[in-house]
Amino acid sequence: MSQTKFLLDESKMPTHWYNIAADLPVAAPPVLHPGTMQPVGPDDLAPLFPMELIMQEVSTEREIPIPEPVREVFRLWRPAPLIRAHRLEKALGTPAKIYYKYEGVSPAGSHKPNTAIPQAWYNAQAGIKKLSTETGAGQWGSSLAFAGALFGLQVQVFQVRVSYDQKPYRRALMETYGASCVASPSNLTNAGRAILAQNPEHPGSLGIAISEAVEVAATNDDTKYALGSVLNHVLLHQTIIGQEAMLQLEMAGDDPDVVVGCTGGGSNFAGIAFPFIGQQLRGGKKRRIVAVEPAACPSLTRGKYAYDFGDTAHLTPLTKMHTLGSTFTPPGFHAGGLRYHGMAPMVSHLKELGLIEATAYHQVACFEAGVLFARAEGIVPAPEANHAVKGAIAEALRCKAEGKSEVILFNLCGHGHFDMAAYTQYFAGKLTDQSYDEAELAMALSGLPSVPA
Ligand SMILES: *Cc1c(COP(=O)(O)O)cnc(C)c1O
Repeated sequence: MSQTKFLLDESKMPTHWYNIAADLPVAAPPVLHPGTMQPVGPDDLAPLFPMELIMQEVSTEREIPIPEPVREVFRLWRPAPLIRAHRLEKALGTPAKIYYKYEGVSPAGSHKPNTAIPQAWYNAQAGIKKLSTETGAGQWGSSLAFAGALFGLQVQVFQVRVSYDQKPYRRALMETYGASCVASPSNLTNAGRAILAQNPEHPGSLGIAISEAVEVAATNDDTKYALGSVLNHVLLHQTIIGQEAMLQLEMAGDDPDVVVGCTGGGSNFAGIAFPFIGQQLRGGKKRRIVAVEPAACPSLTRGKYAYDFGDTAHLTPLTKMHTLGSTFTPPGFHAGGLRYHGMAPMVSHLKELGLIEATAYHQVACFEAGVLFARAEGIVPAPEANHAVKGAIAEALRCKAEGKSEVILFNLCGHGHFDMAAYTQYFAGKLTDQSYDEAELAMALSGLPSVPA
């Protein structure tokens, strides 16, 4: 068996984030102010984010330096390993080579600290004392809580009700790091109270939790908002993943033909994929880049590419993205991190440009893939990451059928140690494949804001 693990020396950890906006053949559509329908400027976003992050949001510089204090924190777990999945290849009987970049080695167990740390740092530099945010499965909330603890920021997390009930240990982790966490919809905000008045048992959604967190930031001078996915600066921060993977694949003497990532809001996918897409846009090798999403919340494969709000109470600007409608509440399936109604505008734009593909799978097939992976490779993937595992296995089986020895790279974006209740349900045969409600989807889409062309 040839080499399994590719570790990058600390001195080789990337010094810059890669900004794909610099290499796009066509710029992404502008973000619009919902009142004026004009492009938003930096000042419009200033109540929510510190200026450094706003400038990153709109930057077209190819390389943006990673501040040294941020790199110093990253050294706690980065560079993250790249692993050749020899045993999975054998279990599948595929001639393909499968590599995975493992982001579960971070203290919070996923890729999310890659952006939580710089976001907290830029906020602390700007004199901000508190951050408000939303979380689904709790991965983002615990990552921001960790980052807040390191830089002395108070963190208030609104956690989607179904996940809050399903995953009590994520809340305990947030509280261990010193954050406070409430179930959303909550009675702490106007947005939450309005939803609870209609339905006291509402399961919550990321769209609602975002409304609550944005409201808190917009109405408190010492508080800013932090988002764990979707925005350009978040995707930017995640590009350290793909840049490291490129160097590690060079060590391995391989070059991927297919790059796979799961997509909730698009950040871990962007993190592994954008550096490779950028290389292609600058004249390099053309690869297949595959986004994998849940069939129960299929924004990229079934959503409409249209201007929409990022939240349910319509407090955010309008972005053009693949959306299921901002009032859409996906069924309560287990990949809590993949339950967002929209997709990152930049990922959506790349889909429109034909630079990426998208595919959707149901959760039972994803858990089946995750269990196969765990039994071959030892790591238990997060339910979200199971979608990427499923996508990679599907590619490996295609290679087997076609007799091709392609190189497949996927992002194993987090471990599932806090999600074992979902695995228990899977083994008990209690996980079902929920499809979204067609009628509810149609209604949510009919409510899209009308934007003049
Ligand atoms: C949050 C999360 C996701 C979904 O978010 P993206 O922005 O699409 O990456 C996927 N996997 C894990 C492990 C997560 O924590």
